[in-house]
Amino acid sequence: MPGFLTKQEQLARAKTLQPNLRVAPYPLEPGEAYMNASQRQYFKNILLNWKHVIQNKLYLDAEPDLANNYNQLVMRINKILLNILTREYGFCANCECGIDLHRLEAWPIADLCLTCQKQQERKQKHN
Ligand SMILES: [Zn+2]
Repeated sequence: MPGFLTKQEQLARAKTLQPNLRVAPYPLEPGEAYMNASQRQYFKNILLNWKHVIQNKLYLDAEPDLANNYNQLVMRINKILLNILTREYGFCANCECGIDLHRLEAWPIADLCLTCQKQQERKQKHN
């Protein structure tokens, strides 16, 4: 699973509550269309559950230094949930290809494919 994430994303993930610890991988059927209704539903459930867990943490017992992280994460998840409604979810914000489902399972708020994410991180290193 970690192979589907860049180092930065693995780090970010380690700092948050895990999105999908108890969720089974998506049962992909051969020839299934990318981001069809059942895939959108699957990721919507993951995101809603994750948001719920974070919000509970945030309002009940977050350490002050984590509260800001959690709050930002909740806002990001809300934005991504809107992308599911507008059917933009799962498509790379840079090259528009469909992002690998295993990558989304590991990090459901990824908005770039692995190739574009790595490129961006390389650029950031040089700046
Ligand atoms: Zn891309």
